[in-house]
Amino acid sequence: MNVDIAGRLRAEYEYLWHDSMFELPDGWTEPLVVLLEKMYRLSTVGPSNFMTPGIITWCQVRVEVYMSSAIAFASPMMPSHHWHPDRALACIEALSEFHGKTQETCSVCGAEGHLRMRMLGSSREGVYCDLHHLATVEKMDRAMALYTECRLLFPEVHGTAINLDVPDHLFDLLSSTFRSILKVVDRYEALGKVLITRVEMDDGALFVRVRYDLTYAFIGVQMEVNAMIADLETLSDEATRKHNLLRGSDAP
Ligand SMILES: [Zn+2]
Repeated sequence: MNVDIAGRLRAEYEYLWHDSMFELPDGWTEPLVVLLEKMYRLSTVGPSNFMTPGIITWCQVRVEVYMSSAIAFASPMMPSHHWHPDRALACIEALSEFHGKTQETCSVCGAEGHLRMRMLGSSREGVYCDLHHLATVEKMDRAMALYTECRLLFPEVHGTAINLDVPDHLFDLLSSTFRSILKVVDRYEALGKVLITRVEMDDGALFVRVRYDLTYAFIGVQMEVNAMIADLETLSDEATRKHNLLRGSDAP
């Protein structure tokens, strides 16, 4: 979730906010706001009692994010005899509505969407509108095309190939580096002896692992490739920082 929006929600719904809500994709912000608002209003649902309505936090809320939906969990903060049936029902309705809404809301843009599944022919699973479904399919195609182009840099695998589907702001950097590595390895006639065994994102940072199957005569290619990977990792850290800064400041 956009950091600015998360910050505002945390300030507004102080006691109901939980950091697990950070994990929600941007498109599911509105279902979350509706949930928080309904949970906030629980204090005024049902007959008033001796406690002033509006100041009691009735629940603590957490969310868990899945590909196909998000689920909210609530734990009552007040003993059950304080819970009027109307209030209990309003709480259950809010939790269930949140889950239902995330199942039919595009996780990217918040427009109407539905679940796309691999077994139904989609290359990527998740809840998307038509536009963002198409965009994710194109991203997968783009990653597969790069994989095929640089096939000689990757080990023979059975089953899942190395996943080159990195975030948009890193893809060009990744592809130009891999193309350069391919050229260098080819120039040293070391194809098949320099293998990229892992490409992974860890907390926004890109990591690439390389295995060398070389004799000392090839020390040059190893040094060149190591330098290119080091550059790639440094530049992508920088790109991620820039991307996060922009993302934080472009909130409406
Ligand atoms: Zn969308």
